Amino acid sequence: MELHSTPPADGVIAAAVEMPEPDVHVVTSSGMLIPAHSKILASASPVLESIIERPQKRRSSDRNIPILGVPYDAVPVFIQFLYSRKCTEEQMEKFGIHLLALAHVYSVPQLKQRCTRGLAQRLTVDNVVDVFQLARLCNAPDLRLKCMKLLSNNFKAVAETEGWKFLQNHDPYLELEILQFIDEAESRRKMRRRRREQQSLYIQLSEAMDCLEHICSEGCTSVGPSDMDLSKHKGPCSKFSTCHGLQLLIKHFGTCMKRVNGGCLRCKRMWQLFRLHSSICGQPDECRVPLCRQFKLKAQQDPRGGSDERWRLLVRKVASAKAMSSLSLPKRKREEEPRMGMDNREMRSIKLY
Ligand SMILES: [Zn+2]
Ligand SMILES: [Zn+2]
Ligand SMILES: [Zn+2]
Repeated sequence: MELHSTPPADGVIAAAVEMPEPDVHVVTSSGMLIPAHSKILASASPVLESIIERPQKRRSSDRNIPILGVPYDAVPVFIQFLYSRKCTEEQMEKFGIHLLALAHVYSVPQLKQRCTRGLAQRLTVDNVVDVFQLARLCNAPDLRLKCMKLLSNNFKAVAETEGWKFLQNHDPYLELEILQFIDEAESRRKMRRRRREQQSLYIQLSEAMDCLEHICSEGCTSVGPSDMDLSKHKGPCSKFSTCHGLQLLIKHFGTCMKRVNGGCLRCKRMWQLFRLHSSICGQPDECRVPLCRQFKLKAQQDPRGGSDERWRLLVRKVASAKAMSSLSLPKRKREEEPRMGMDNREMRSIKLY
């Protein structure tokens, strides 16, 4: 079989050769006519398909399809996308908003996705209100959410823009919707902050529990079990900021004349720390922490006595923070880690209950 001697046509020429003559014209708002192929338009957009398939009075070669309502020079970019599924970054920069509107009106999901991404990347304080309104009209929830986030994080600056002032005068419902979102975002932020603070309280308490066991079993600096010679004891431990606060509290508890029932708050705090220890203590028999056995006995006799839901929650949270801290870091590293310890002031500020 003989090979063709003529060189193969390049892609563009081949496409032009294979492509039939355009059989429709797209008409823009300026009256510009863009020749196009009805089959390609119809396959890319069901809306254009139904326009093209409408019964017509005149011959198909005279067919005009109006695409109005956007600047005339955005229409060729739209048509180009229907042919190639592509548009450049410059085109997105210049016509992104109009292309999103066209993608929505003519049901072209790929272009809608492209515009959602493109516009989200180009969001600014100055254009966010316009893009938000459009995202709402065009049912583009991802873009809408991005706008809302930018709005709520930069609301002061946005409120100064022309776009926002226009919105206030012309779309009070949308203004309200945005303000509500900002309000909810603020409460979500507060809730997260509160949760973080609570978590750090549980971590501090779990560390206090470690220190309490360590003081009552090994002794530390000047406080320790009564049968231990503390004068031989070495310097401060690695968690000394927490440990020291606890030692002062223990010393106070041992000597205070007012005591818990007398209304001493420091004694009450120590009492609660002993009780918390007993609630999570894993060594029922050899435990040397004061009052541990007494609290346990009391709890056995009256399982629900004196412990309400909040206390049980606290116990669960501290126990899990303790488990996490002993699991998450290898022992050696834990000692080198800068301590997030409580100093004396923090120790006093802990509200247990
Ligand atoms: Zn210590
Ligand atoms: Zn006291
Ligand atoms: Zn114990």
